[in-house]
Amino acid sequence: MNQRRLDQLLEPLVEEERFALYQGLARFADEELADKILGWERSHQLLPHDVIEQLGSMGVFGLPIAEQYGGQGGGMTDLLLAGLALSYQSPSIAITPGAAVSLGANPVLKFGTDEQKEKYLPELSAGERMFCFGLSEPGRGSDAANPQVVATREGDHFILRGEKCWSTNAAWSSHIVVHALTDPSGRNGHRSTCFIIPIDREGVHYQEMEGKTVWPLSSTGSITFDGVVATEAEVLGDLNEGFRVMVTTLNGGRLFVASMALGSLAFALDKTRTYVQQRDQFGGPIGRFQRVQDVVLEMDLALERNLTWLMHLARCHDDGSIKREQAAKVKIDCSRVASRLLMDAMEVCGGVASLDEFGLARHSADLFVTRVGEGSNRALMTQAVRPLLPDIADQLQ
Ligand SMILES: Cc1cc2nc3c(=O)[nH]c(=O)nc-3n(C[C@H](O)[C@H](O)[C@H](O)COP(=O)(O)OP(=O)(O)OC[C@H]3O[C@@H](n4cnc5c(N)ncnc54)[C@H](O)[C@@H]3O)c2cc1C
Repeated sequence: MNQRRLDQLLEPLVEEERFALYQGLARFADEELADKILGWERSHQLLPHDVIEQLGSMGVFGLPIAEQYGGQGGGMTDLLLAGLALSYQSPSIAITPGAAVSLGANPVLKFGTDEQKEKYLPELSAGERMFCFGLSEPGRGSDAANPQVVATREGDHFILRGEKCWSTNAAWSSHIVVHALTDPSGRNGHRSTCFIIPIDREGVHYQEMEGKTVWPLSSTGSITFDGVVATEAEVLGDLNEGFRVMVTTLNGGRLFVASMALGSLAFALDKTRTYVQQRDQFGGPIGRFQRVQDVVLEMDLALERNLTWLMHLARCHDDGSIKREQAAKVKIDCSRVASRLLMDAMEVCGGVASLDEFGLARHSADLFVTRVGEGSNRALMTQAVRPLLPDIADQLQ
C-alpha cells in the first residue's frame, strides 16, 4: 500500500532533520523490532536488555537533554517523534525510553542541583541508567498530593517508610524519585518533598507487579521503603515543594502518553485501510461499504487533528508556556479518541482483529493505560475544566 499515513501527516509539521530522526526510529522499529514483538509478548518476557542498549546507542534516552549533559540537545518534539515511531509498533517498547526521559531524567534536568545534574544526567542520557517515578501508592492514586510514604527528619537526614507502586521501568532503574510527606501540617500541595533514592540501598525492596495485562514488555514495579535513610543531598527540588516537582514533570509525561495513543491510532489506521481493501464479502471489498469508510475517515481526521495539536504543545512545553490544563486536555482527548476508534477499527475488520498477530487487540489493550496512566482522565477533567468555570473553580470536584 501507500506510504504510512503517519509519515505523510508528520512531514509538513516538523523540521526536515526532525522528520529524518523520526524516520530513522520508525525504520529501526519496523526492521529490528516488529517481527520479534509477538514472540516476546507470548513468552511473557520484559523488553530484552539489548534493545534498551540499542535505543541508548541511538541517543533516544538523551533526545531532549542538553549536550553539556551528554544529551542530543533537542526538545519535547524529538521525544514525541520517538514516541510516535516506537508506539506504532509497540507502546510497551515506547514507554521504556518515554518514561525514562519524561519521568526519570526530566525532573533532574528541571529541578536538580548542578551536582545532581552532573552526577546523573550523562548516564541517564546514554540509557546506561534509568530513574523511575514514584508518585503512585496503593492508597494514593489520583489523590497524590498527600502521600502516605513519609520522610521523617532525624537530625541531618530523613527516614523513609511506606510503599510506591506502578513504577514504570523499576526493573531497570538504579534510582527512584520518591514523593514523600515531609510536613503534614503544611498547606495543601506544600507538604511533600522528592528524594532521589538508590534502589539498592538498605531497606528498599523492589518487586515486579504481577498479572498486568497491559504494556507487556514494560517493567512495572512496587517499591517499599522500610526505614530508608535519605540525605539532604538527595532532596530533588525544594523542601516541601515535591508536589510541584511531580506535577510539572507530568506535563511532559502527558504529552508523551498522547504521542503513544496517536502511534497506536496511526498503526490501526494503516492496518484497517489495508485490510478493508483486501477482504471481500458480498462480492467485493468490505471497504466499499460506507459504514466501513466512515471508520477509516474518522481515524484519519482524529490523527491529523491531534498530531497538529500535539506538535504545537511540544513547542509550548519547550518555551515554558505550556499550562497544566493544556497537557491534561491533549492526553485526555488523544487517549479517549484513539481507544474508541481502535474498538471501531477492530469491529470493521471482524473476527481476525481478535488475534494477537493482527495487532489491533494489542494496541487496544495498551490504550487503556493512556486513559489512566499519568493521571486518570476523569480526575484530570476537573483540572481541564477549571479555567472554563472560574467563578466556581473552588467548588469543582
Ligand atoms: C501500566 C501503568 C504504569 C504506571 N506507571 C506509573 C509510574 O511510572 N509512576 C507512578 O507514580 N504511577 C504510575 N502509574 C499509576 C497511574 O498514574 C495511576 O494509575 C493513576 O494516577 C490513577 O490512580 P489509581 O489507579 O490509583 O486510580 P484512583 O485514584 O483510585 O481512581 C480510580 C478512578 O476513580 C475516578 N476518580 C478518581 N478521582 C477522581 C476525580 N477527582 N474526579 C473524577 N473521577 C475521579 C476515575 O475514574 C479514576 O480512574 C501507572 C499505572 C499503570 C496502569
